[in-house]
Amino acid sequence: MNKITNHLATAELQALDAAHHMHPFTANAELAKKGARIITQADGVTLTDSEGEKILDAMAGLWCVNIGYGRDELAEVAARQMKELPYYNTFFMSSHVPAIALADKLAELAPGDLNHVFFASGGSEANDTNIRLVRRYWDLMGKPGKKTIISRKNAYHGTSIGAASLGGMQGMHAQGGMPIPDIVHIGQPYWYLEGGDMSPEDFGLMRARELEAKIDELGEDKVAAFIAEPIQGAGGVIIPPESYWPEVSRICAERDILLIVDEVITGFGRTGEWFGTEYYGLKPDIMTVAKGLSSGYAPIGGSLVSDRVAEVIGREEFTHGYTYSGHPVAAAVALENLRILEEEKIVDHVKNEAAPYLAEKWHQLADHPFVGETTIVGMMASLALTADKSVRKPFKASPGTVGFMTRERCFGNNLIMRHVADRMIVAPPLVMTRSDIDTLFERAVKSLDQAYEDVK
Ligand code: PLP
Repeated sequence: MNKITNHLATAELQALDAAHHMHPFTANAELAKKGARIITQADGVTLTDSEGEKILDAMAGLWCVNIGYGRDELAEVAARQMKELPYYNTFFMSSHVPAIALADKLAELAPGDLNHVFFASGGSEANDTNIRLVRRYWDLMGKPGKKTIISRKNAYHGTSIGAASLGGMQGMHAQGGMPIPDIVHIGQPYWYLEGGDMSPEDFGLMRARELEAKIDELGEDKVAAFIAEPIQGAGGVIIPPESYWPEVSRICAERDILLIVDEVITGFGRTGEWFGTEYYGLKPDIMTVAKGLSSGYAPIGGSLVSDRVAEVIGREEFTHGYTYSGHPVAAAVALENLRILEEEKIVDHVKNEAAPYLAEKWHQLADHPFVGETTIVGMMASLALTADKSVRKPFKASPGTVGFMTRERCFGNNLIMRHVADRMIVAPPLVMTRSDIDTLFERAVKSLDQAYEDVK
């Protein structure tokens, strides 16, 4: 029997955690001082920690628990599948029912002709697959020189070396010789901090046209694809100006490159549509999915691939795959999650109830003296913390410190919000009710008040 259980005292758990557990994306110096918060249980939109505190999770874990915590149906499906067929692979001409059923369901739900899926265990792996897919596609098309993938600064596409290279996070690139060759980055459509005197619409057009300029600079015969999140999530919930996506779509349609839309966050209802692709009217050749695909109950992701690309890739063996591609337990859990999303009309709930109410409350925060702007699409929102509401600027001294302090104030008030530099972010479970949103709002106001006093 494992001696470590939920019933150990918090301090004991924290000591063991510090001794043996290396954390992803964690301020290690702060962790060493304070110890990790230990989450022991969750239900609906609420986490419980090892001290018995009830915490409102306005981040849905890592933007993934779309249907909320504690759905027994998913646990039951997982147990059933583990008994029947806990594992088999999909290599070497094998398949199994959960992978087949999930692929079929995704083809039905996905927009356009994204009728094929290559499974992975999460978003990073799926984006690594995408690098291989687009380069292989152009090889088979007789254009092996088309290798370069254009991405954007401050994009997040995951953390494997391929996915992190696609991403445009300087802090990540600085820690490991990234980006790898043949991945380049153009500017992001972040009007608030980078738009200067331009109108949002002009700025959106300008940033979109950087794609065209980059294709011209590199040569169309060298460019394989453009990859982007419909709304940059980990970059700070950067909602592009309305002019941005139509112009990018025009450029992709006119130039001989593939469009990869990374819907790891925006997929499965977060924008109030099934996919951000539908929200913005996009026509991707490949779409990355993960997170909300299983609501985080099991690790699974994938690349949804158009008929055109799948036909070419399928001409020969594609020398790529993961031990857990289409894992039967994860696939069965994802399928059940999709059933719940569909049957309980959760995407409609977002569009017609939860998101409009969250938007109403969220925009009220713009009146707070500490808040520069509020933005929201569906159930993903952010606000800029500012020292001076009259200018669009971050805090001068060590950007991010104020965001970090505000996040800790939120946690002290039993609210999980995330910070990216000096932006505060929420992406709650899609099943939030009005009363959950009221609680979120009350705790957010209290935390902002406290943080404002802290920095005054
Ligand atoms: N793509 C986007 C847009 C993401 O937000 C993330 C994770 O946050 C990823 C890819 C990476 O997914 P994973 O952490 O499952 O590898």
